[in-house]
Amino acid sequence: MRAVRTTCAYCGVGCGITARVGDGREVEIGGDTAHPANRGGLCSKGTHLGETVGLGGRLLYPMIGDAQADWDEALRLVAAQFRQAIAEHGPDSVAFYVSGQLLTEDYYAANKLMKGFIGSGNIDTNSRLCMASAVAAHNRAFGEDFVPCSYDDLDKADLIVLVGSNTAWCHPVIWQRIEAAREAKGTKLVVIDPRRTETAERADLHIAIKPDGDVALFNAMLLDMHRRGMTDDAFMARHVTTPDRFWDDLSAGETVLPDGFDEFCDLFAAHPRTVTLFSQGANQSACGTDKGNAITNLHLSTGRIGVPGGGPFSITGQPNAMGGREVGGLANQLACHLGFSEQERAAVGTFWNTDTVAQGPGLKAVDLFNAVHDGRIKALWIMATNPAVSLPDAGFVREALQRCPFVVVSDCITDTDTALMADVRLPALAWGEKDGTVTNSERMISRQRALFPAPGEARADWRIIADVAARMGWAEDFAWPNPAAVFREYAAMTAISAERGLKLDLTDRAIMTDVSYEAMEPFRWGAHQPLLEAGFSHPDGKARLISIAPPAPRAFDPAFPLRLNTNRYRDQWHTMTRTGLSPKLSRHRPEPLLDIHPEDAAGAGVNAGGLVRVSTAQGETVLRARITEAQAKGTISAPMHWTDAFGSAGRSNRLTQRRTDPVSGQPAFKDTPAKIAVV
Ligand code: SF4
Repeated sequence: MRAVRTTCAYCGVGCGITARVGDGREVEIGGDTAHPANRGGLCSKGTHLGETVGLGGRLLYPMIGDAQADWDEALRLVAAQFRQAIAEHGPDSVAFYVSGQLLTEDYYAANKLMKGFIGSGNIDTNSRLCMASAVAAHNRAFGEDFVPCSYDDLDKADLIVLVGSNTAWCHPVIWQRIEAAREAKGTKLVVIDPRRTETAERADLHIAIKPDGDVALFNAMLLDMHRRGMTDDAFMARHVTTPDRFWDDLSAGETVLPDGFDEFCDLFAAHPRTVTLFSQGANQSACGTDKGNAITNLHLSTGRIGVPGGGPFSITGQPNAMGGREVGGLANQLACHLGFSEQERAAVGTFWNTDTVAQGPGLKAVDLFNAVHDGRIKALWIMATNPAVSLPDAGFVREALQRCPFVVVSDCITDTDTALMADVRLPALAWGEKDGTVTNSERMISRQRALFPAPGEARADWRIIADVAARMGWAEDFAWPNPAAVFREYAAMTAISAERGLKLDLTDRAIMTDVSYEAMEPFRWGAHQPLLEAGFSHPDGKARLISIAPPAPRAFDPAFPLRLNTNRYRDQWHTMTRTGLSPKLSRHRPEPLLDIHPEDAAGAGVNAGGLVRVSTAQGETVLRARITEAQAKGTISAPMHWTDAFGSAGRSNRLTQRRTDPVSGQPAFKDTPAKIAVV
């Protein structure tokens, strides 16, 4: 068997894998002991990747409707439909909806085609559902979407705070690292989460806040630190700009502070080396950006950032959410962390040799599908994602796809809920066949390498995009021979961000050969510049405190008296198109369960294990009840993984609302008004 070093297909921890590849598609998976992110550790999902590489259910040939087509025919049709829509309705009548599953090279190609040549900002990504609020908080506080921590800080911290993160299940190898630090040096752990998750059960302190109580909590903590004299005036004078009246206006609102608040403040005050990790529970909220800034304000005001073992640390969900945002996969950024100012657009236009750079930001995910639904988008290309299940109010998204005049899906799976609604399906490579790079939560760039040859007629995503671009008239601009050439072009483009004082600078990689690209070792961009010496990315080199107030309480709706939260299971990933293939992974939780507090269950006559109909303004579904005091009274929670492919029950995203954060556009998955009834 030959050994190939690659990275895991799943979460943003970005674990290195050593794959031992035999004949055919036989593969043994082990942790890569030389990879700094995981040092050999893997979780159950990564360990069982070998069970998911079979060719059953794969899309192996281009399809037009239900008929197999040849590549040229399919590509010409896609190019013609997009060109026609642009000619008749303008560039903003077309859109791409892409994915944190794409490699950086794929993302770069898609962004270049849409924002550089089609000339619209309408490319957004399912990463909008995952960490867009953290991006917005970083941009406001630091002047750039920059993560000021690394996993090494978890080893050095004396206090780790987890906000809205069931780390033990959702980022298990980070959890292993936290547990190792607690064992080795007694690191304290605080978990802030409305749910008493498996992570919260094992913390030194669990603070069960009300849904969206984070801003009030962190504002109250900052007030408490200020009163105690624990804010660091010297640090702030050197590194932070404070708005006028910031301290006068700082308020925790009317919220009753949760149990454990005083203990939390004492722990924070006693441990200068504090890392605060925040994830979907913070981000997937109508005030997710404010939550990120409330956390960041606390770290900036107390000098707990840019020091070993200190900082606010957003942990991303997807394997390449970070790489995607670096190359412009979000509709509100151009590429290389650049905005849409005249100078930035001009620099990008010069680099790409085009005069059709998008004039401004495009539509963010939820708005994009609203535009599909109301007919503004005439041609839509969905890459490597399943929005008919994963977007909020998924029934509405299905209606939107049915109404759209032309839908293309490029994916490795033939019959995802979304692919079944496409006019054209283009076969893409899967994990184990792809070749390129990904960036993990600590901005470490690693290689994902091919283990097997491409099956059937499947092609790399970057190449499919280049093939369509060529048929739209831009062959020379997308004439890359291999992914190394795409990466070199991206690395060279970061000269524009570097010249503007941003930290995203890969220019030393722009001269990389195909051989050195193949041999690339994992590296963390920006790591050569100590943060406080280099300064933040705002023009004055200082970070910003952001004045924020807790959100007003949501009005109680007697028709929907409960609040639905969505969650993730330890051994499943997204809409289960891959993890659903592994029998071992399905043993952990074979079906979706609705978590209900005993008093809410009693009030509705629900028995443990009984079937419950959950209804919201968006739709309804049926789930089996799990009655547990781990679920706060007045709230219910269901996993997000199950799809129509698994039957009519358990589809929680048919229930969730399209409400979004006004700054980041990230959907508020965690707080949908709902009601329950016995089936
Ligand atoms: Fe893969 Fe994430 Fe598990 Fe690591 S922690 S093995 S990246 S799923």
